[in-house]
Amino acid sequence: MVGRFDGQVVLVTGGGSGIGRATALRLASEGAVVGVFDRDRDHAERTAREAGADGAACVAIGGDVSQEADVERAVAHLVREAGALSGLVTSAGIFHPEDFKPAAEVGLDAFMAVVGVNLVGTFLAVKHALPHLVERRGALVTIASTAALRGHGFGSGYTASKGGVDAWTRLVAVQYGCHGVRANCICPGSVDTPMTGGVHQTPEAVEQAKQRIPLQKVAQAEQLASVAAFLLSADASHMTGQTLVVDGGTTIAG
Ligand code: NAP
Repeated sequence: MVGRFDGQVVLVTGGGSGIGRATALRLASEGAVVGVFDRDRDHAERTAREAGADGAACVAIGGDVSQEADVERAVAHLVREAGALSGLVTSAGIFHPEDFKPAAEVGLDAFMAVVGVNLVGTFLAVKHALPHLVERRGALVTIASTAALRGHGFGSGYTASKGGVDAWTRLVAVQYGCHGVRANCICPGSVDTPMTGGVHQTPEAVEQAKQRIPLQKVAQAEQLASVAAFLLSADASHMTGQTLVVDGGTTIAG
């Protein structure tokens, strides 16, 4: 059977866990060669092995998205191993515990650490992927958060970084549309991943979370992966500069 991503090479940052891992597995199952980039190399290798169970070829790459040299090296390595990138998904992200404090009590180091990974890391991955995406007339998907769209009541660095990712994705869409490159952003609501492990730890906490979600389910990473795959695919060939909210309806429920 022909896969939607046969012959394509896609880099997924944060591919060692959660949404990035599920996206890497989904893309590989549809024929892509996936570069699984994560700061935890063991986790990147684990995802690559899992994807390989389908007979797919994956390349595990360790590195820090907030460090330009690491990102440049990762892109060059993937291109050497598999060919020019036609897709990118930026899922590497962090939440800092200090972000639960009121804005005036958040330390600059914590704020900058979150912005460094979530926003600067997205900028660097997109920057170094773009020459290849232009060559292949490819597509990219950034992962922001509903924190970019509504006041969650916490998350200074997180909200600032995700608002930046959402807005900056539109800039890339406008600047690179003439090269045939599409750029779209996904804003997930609450997703059951290691990042939210603490929040969804008890059945009571899961129940509470569900009450704020019209669909009354906390999302699974695979439900974000399928949307990322759609946005990267030719099925979304006339979509660019869009923000897709994948939150079970939480944002529209007021
Ligand atoms: P996750 O399971 O923690 O996965 C994130 C991955 O990114 C981890 O493997 C992490 O490695 C990696 N990473 C973190 N910093 C990195 C860096 N500097 N360089 C390279 N890799 C790095 O979290 P997730 O829930 O899948 O989150 C994926 C994206 O979705 C994030 O951008 C997050 O902000 C966004 N999001 C998540 C939710 C949610 O409810 N889960 C909601 C809205 C948006 P380590 O394990 O070593 O940290």
